[in-house]
Amino acid sequence: GHHVIVRGASKRYGSLEALCGIDLDLAAGSFTVLLGPSGSGKSTLLRSIAGVEKLDGGTIHFGPRTISDRQTHVKPEKRALAMVFQDYALWPHLTVRQNVAYALRRRRLGGQEAGRRVESMLERVGLGAKSGSYPHELSGGQQQRVALARAIVGEPELILFDEPLSNLDADLREHLRLEIATLTRETGATALYITHDQSEAFALADEVAILNAGVIEQRGSAESIFRH
Ligand code: ADP
Ligand code: ADP
Repeated sequence: GHHVIVRGASKRYGSLEALCGIDLDLAAGSFTVLLGPSGSGKSTLLRSIAGVEKLDGGTIHFGPRTISDRQTHVKPEKRALAMVFQDYALWPHLTVRQNVAYALRRRRLGGQEAGRRVESMLERVGLGAKSGSYPHELSGGQQQRVALARAIVGEPELILFDEPLSNLDADLREHLRLEIATLTRETGATALYITHDQSEAFALADEVAILNAGVIEQRGSAESIFRH
């Protein structure tokens, strides 16, 4: 069955309609890319699914639960999801290890078991030697790998990516998108990934949804969307 189901999602900022009745299904374990120009509502939709934004109308179901509707607003930390942002959003005063461990602490996992999971996750993204460093001591690509490790270590059911590669140069973007694809599929998490880069969408997506001015204009498999 479908893992995330969005129906009739609408959101206004004053007189601006950022989302105009969005329907979107994310199949369990699928990788969906939300593609569209700047200002089309991609971040608003993603933040609504994350629960950091409240909808004006419509519903969002997550597995068997209603997480957003007129009466319901499940808090972000209760949604079993993780986010990866364009600006990495690491805690500057925490080491790499502590940044990743933070995701487990929120899930009440501590002690040796947590320590082992953090270290093996950092090895997995090639940063085992950097676990005692601070974010400002790392390159942009390394920081985004820490953010990826932090997102995945807690084994979320859903991972939301908001233009995670936009601040990186072209070579690194290609390299990191492979890592994102591999790691996300290994965890079995459902993924929703925002980009305005068609080649990125083509490389990553099982499913593509094209957003324009708050409306889903086109939707289908990557092959069917990019054949034309
Ligand atoms: P995208 O992610 O596709 O660039 P956004 O979801 O960020 O688009 O924005 C959609 C529209 O809503 C844009 O016109 C943007 O300026 C507006 N918007 C987004 N967030 C806010 C906000 N907090 N207050 C007012 N307008 C906003
Ligand atoms: P993105 O880089 O994903 O397009 P933006 O730069 O559009 O993101 O938005 C960054 C932040 O600013 C978001 O929290 C968004 O809600 C807010 N924002 C975007 N557009 C507006 C706006 N027109 N007025 C107020 N806040 C906005």
